[in-house]
Amino acid sequence: MKLERLLVDLKGRCRSRKREFEVVVAELKKMKPREAEDLLTELDEKIFSQIDCLECGNCCRALGPRLIDRDLRSLGAELGLKPGSFRKSYVVLDEDGDMVFSKMPCPFLEDDNKCAVYEGRPKACAEYPHTSGRQVQGRLGLLMKNAETCPAVFLMLDELRKKGFDHFIQ
Ligand code: SF4
Ligand code: SF4
Repeated sequence: MKLERLLVDLKGRCRSRKREFEVVVAELKKMKPREAEDLLTELDEKIFSQIDCLECGNCCRALGPRLIDRDLRSLGAELGLKPGSFRKSYVVLDEDGDMVFSKMPCPFLEDDNKCAVYEGRPKACAEYPHTSGRQVQGRLGLLMKNAETCPAVFLMLDELRKKGFDHFIQ
């Protein structure tokens, strides 16, 4: 799947599908939790089997993860730094008081889109784009926002928009 094409004006294409994506999210909200989880997990696996994140890296360029204390320990360990030193060198508080990287694009994104701290990457990075797993209905609000950055999320919403839900539920 050609990612460069998918990344062109992703925000604009999300805007033009806004109403239809809102209907998709509303339908997902109405589903039984387990059904919504299974449906999105299946779709997540399908789309990510066709997409190579190493050809994209858009989330690491455009969005910073919100960091938790555990991340400071694991990221510090990757770099041979104590959590306090890691925090001093790489972390600031955002306007909401959350810990984020002091620079974007992410300082650990390499030229080939690999993550230099992959084994110790933040929890938010490991879970991005939050489209699979349990309690996914509680994260539906993020879907439309993440579709503006992540072509995989855009494709998931678009596939549900085009094919409807019955196509996936046997
Ligand atoms: S820590 Fe790694 S996965 Fe997370 S934003 Fe940076 S490069 Fe991407
Ligand atoms: S998770 Fe989405 S935005 Fe991030 S690299 Fe993969 S396809 Fe791109």
